[in-house]
Amino acid sequence: MTDFDIIIVGGGIAGASLGAEIGDRRRSLIIEAEEQCGFHSTGRSAAFFLESYGGPEVAKLTAASRQFLDAPPSVFSEHGFLRTRGDLHITPGELPELPAGIESRIVEREELERLVPGIRPQWRRALFEPGCADIDVAGLHSAYLRQFRRRGGKIRTSARLRSALRINDRWNVQLEDGSNLIASILVNAAGAWADTVATACSVEPLAIAPKRRTMVQLRVRRSGLRDLPLVDDADGTFYFKGEGDRTIWLSPHDEIPTDPCDAAPEEVDIAIAIDRFERVVDWPVERVERSWAGLRSFAPDRLPVYGFDPAAPGFFWCVGQGGFGIQTSPAAARMAAALLLDEEPDSMVAAIDAPVFSPARFAI
Ligand SMILES: Cc1cc2nc3c(=O)[nH]c(=O)nc-3n(C[C@H](O)[C@H](O)[C@H](O)COP(=O)(O)OP(=O)(O)OC[C@H]3O[C@@H](n4cnc5c(N)ncnc54)[C@H](O)[C@@H]3O)c2cc1C
Repeated sequence: MTDFDIIIVGGGIAGASLGAEIGDRRRSLIIEAEEQCGFHSTGRSAAFFLESYGGPEVAKLTAASRQFLDAPPSVFSEHGFLRTRGDLHITPGELPELPAGIESRIVEREELERLVPGIRPQWRRALFEPGCADIDVAGLHSAYLRQFRRRGGKIRTSARLRSALRINDRWNVQLEDGSNLIASILVNAAGAWADTVATACSVEPLAIAPKRRTMVQLRVRRSGLRDLPLVDDADGTFYFKGEGDRTIWLSPHDEIPTDPCDAAPEEVDIAIAIDRFERVVDWPVERVERSWAGLRSFAPDRLPVYGFDPAAPGFFWCVGQGGFGIQTSPAAARMAAALLLDEEPDSMVAAIDAPVFSPARFAI
């Protein structure tokens, strides 16, 4: 089959979750450039759910997603995707302010020492956000792809969009392998390649900027870390969380502008991460067990973009999910599906102001 109602470009969490919401109502195809969906940002995340992250508008999408992630309908998954861990926003000075409505409490030094044994003296106190949780990202992503297929959606991997032309109200799509596809609507869910895909479709790009983030798995001489809360600083220069009994996941919270690519960690960023970590706790670092990097892609105002392009008929943006694309995916996909199919929004997102995320906000 080469003729579809909707072709979604990109099989990461953005494309998979949107596809799963519409697969039963339109003949839909996801095309993914790589051999497997989830190879890029989706497969490289730090896998946490943190309601305070990303500012008040993103917080609304995150909060609206919680119930689904925690206890999804059994037809979607027989188990939830969250495991509560809590987050300590530690500080040597002022406590951070969280968006309104997010549960938190102040933790003074004595309790902090109990929660993070070996924490250095300059970290005087913290704000504890109990709702922070780990997300089973691989489980969630594959559940979305499964639902998409079950509802009749098709997936083609190793299928990179080379170009697309709008002829007689239809997109004529050419793939890198030379084959052609046709669709009424093209959804751009290409992550770091969002602008590349737009340009290939002769659509004005939105200046979606990919930024590299480094992750390091460290083995340290301290045990009992598996359930350690996520620990970050109020200034946003690092975070780490327990992974195994003596291992942690650590990030220097870097945001290095880069071209879209298969991102890899740089030695210098790993060194910065370890240096910052050693200023927080006195746990001797034994070795770097592994490290990886991924791209977080942002629109100029750092809000995601969902909606039809005001100047390019049939071209729908689903991009700019920055560092919150996993935790917002249930609500974002429901909202985007309503916009895409011109339907009433689902109750999950009834309180969300969709125009805030529209690409029309960038129109001159
Ligand atoms: C280190 C790191 C930590 C993070 N931590 C968290 C976290 O804790 N919580 C959270 O919610 N989020 C987190 N994120 C952010 C989250 O991972 C992203 O927001 C999300 O994965 C973006 O999903 P996506 O589908 O837009 O992008 P991607 O997963 O990158 O998918 C886009 C896909 O489009 C495909 N593609 C590109 N061009 C074409 C083309 N021409 N034709 C066909 N296919 C194409 C690509 O191959 C790719 O697979 C983190 C990200 C990173 C890098």
